[in-house]
Amino acid sequence: MTDSGKTPDLAFQGNLASRRDQMFPLLNAAQLARLQRYGQRRALRAGEILAEPGDRGLPMWVVLSGSIEVLQVGMAPEAIVVTHTAGGFSGEMSTLRGISTVVRVRVGSEGEALQIDENCLRTIVQTDSELGELFLRAFILRRVGLIQAQASDVILLGSSHSADTLRLQQFLTRNTYPYVYLDIREDVAACELQERLKLKASELPVVICRGVVALKNPSTEEVAACLGMNQPVNDQRVRDLIVVGAGPAGLAAAVYGASEGLDVLVLEIGTPGGQAGSSSKIENYLGFPTGISGLALAARALVQAQKFGAEIRTASPAMRLRCEDRPYAIELASGASVQGRCIVLASGVEYRQLKLENAARFHGAGIYYGATATEAKRCRGDEVVVVGGGNSAGQAAVFLAGTSSVVHMLVRSQGLADTMSRYLIRRIQDTPNIKLRVNTQITSLAGTDELERVTWTTSPSGASETLPIRHVFLMTGALPSTPWLSGCLALNEKSFILTGPEVPTQNLDPKLWNTGRRPEFFETSLPGVFAVGDVRCGSVKRVAAAVGEGSACIQQVHMVLGLQPSPAPCP
Ligand SMILES: Cc1cc2nc3c(=O)[nH]c(=O)nc-3n(C[C@H](O)[C@H](O)[C@H](O)COP(=O)(O)OP(=O)(O)OC[C@H]3O[C@@H](n4cnc5c(N)ncnc54)[C@H](O)[C@@H]3O)c2cc1C
Repeated sequence: MTDSGKTPDLAFQGNLASRRDQMFPLLNAAQLARLQRYGQRRALRAGEILAEPGDRGLPMWVVLSGSIEVLQVGMAPEAIVVTHTAGGFSGEMSTLRGISTVVRVRVGSEGEALQIDENCLRTIVQTDSELGELFLRAFILRRVGLIQAQASDVILLGSSHSADTLRLQQFLTRNTYPYVYLDIREDVAACELQERLKLKASELPVVICRGVVALKNPSTEEVAACLGMNQPVNDQRVRDLIVVGAGPAGLAAAVYGASEGLDVLVLEIGTPGGQAGSSSKIENYLGFPTGISGLALAARALVQAQKFGAEIRTASPAMRLRCEDRPYAIELASGASVQGRCIVLASGVEYRQLKLENAARFHGAGIYYGATATEAKRCRGDEVVVVGGGNSAGQAAVFLAGTSSVVHMLVRSQGLADTMSRYLIRRIQDTPNIKLRVNTQITSLAGTDELERVTWTTSPSGASETLPIRHVFLMTGALPSTPWLSGCLALNEKSFILTGPEVPTQNLDPKLWNTGRRPEFFETSLPGVFAVGDVRCGSVKRVAAAVGEGSACIQQVHMVLGLQPSPAPCP
């Protein structure tokens, strides 16, 4: 019980308990004095509701006297996350982003608070290093606490054998959104809920949004809209820079662009992180000697971009670039469009798929394109197949060997030496439950709703083997995500974007290219439109290279915009 004697204190459970001081620090007199000029004082009346889950654009409340309760609302009665007293402050990551909150905020006892709006909060985070660090650390830990507490009013009702359930799990997890997962194959509560809501099995998975709306097998766009994950589109506002894709390259462009004063909007079709987000452990990225998961790297980059004021729209695909418009316009799936004076294309690549006629049926129901903890849970203790001979395949095999009984690694070529880093080859050799099969390809898949059997064939003998394997991880390379650009730009024969010296002069259409100069190194055949990372022809397909290109292109964006970094708008 808490001091108030009401309900348990959710956020202090588990391994976050030791970080309570960082999660809920108390501001000292000097820090409170520094904050005064950024906010307005307002009275707190006991019982007053300051925010409900779903409310957007909330300010931060710094308690001067009295108290504020933060409550998590879920299937169970509301639970107090924390009670802020004098020196405490409300807020978590959604406050900084100006998107929907996931908690209820209520005044506990009467008093006074300093109310600081989103813009001023961002200015403090960017300009006051002590308070900025203190707020950011607290906000991140609070979000982690909310996720771990598993007491959200957002419920995903599904089955661990369904592709769409996996899609929605990945979407919510990679967006660090707190939700409760109920599996109809394992949870009694799930079956009860299914009955209560009169849901047919064919209507699953269902996302129950804010305890009210039941979305049946929704698209990620629908989930994002229902949960208020994005700010409303303002199609009149002309941004300095629109970045397409929130993989490592796009996030780096957003961090550098926003930190140098540009008004940056990032559009992401799925969830931030790109391919790197589906990597269980990246070990060759500078500065992380023990490795870092793609998800953790993406989450940090996302916070960093938001700290500097970049707006990130998740589940928001760029559908078409209107290349004849000035400023450029990008059409969104909703029918609205956004405008930017410069564009950075960082849309990366999409995984190659198996050329078997029934392969598409098993996507997410036995065939996976990433190996993270979410997928590993699905095949714990089972035999799995990893297809591919590159570093991503090697990482997946080593990672899955930790939880699966046997990892069959199928490689079309004669060995790994030409395609994989030596440290990974050694690790594969040293892992007894990884069985490497060279000159081998999958030739048939079988199953009804889910994958049940896999057949592979080895050349030149033509010997085939069929095993009752239910999980295949495809790590076989990728194609550039450029079809949406539909003839706007010069591409190479494989549809990667040509930039700088690679752009043939005859591709510079005088109606569109009217500057009298050659494209800058990252600039495409359209002035002010840049391409970075894996989608760019000739780039090195690595996280560090993508981050480097995303960062470096901002200097060229400034040059084209003719802008100098401008100060933040808050006093
Ligand atoms: C499993 C795996 C493991 C890997 N491990 C390593 C490693 O250990 N070390 C290493 O250096 N590299 C590794 N890589 C490679 C590395 O992840 C990539 O080189 C890097 O992610 C490229 O970054 P990017 O931002 O250019 O593109 P991507 O990561 O492909 O990101 C592009 C983003 O754009 C989005 N997008 C696409 N089209 C649109 C659109 N129309 N509208 C809006 N958004 C769009 C995508 O959803 C995606 O999020 C790995 C790759 C994989 C798949």
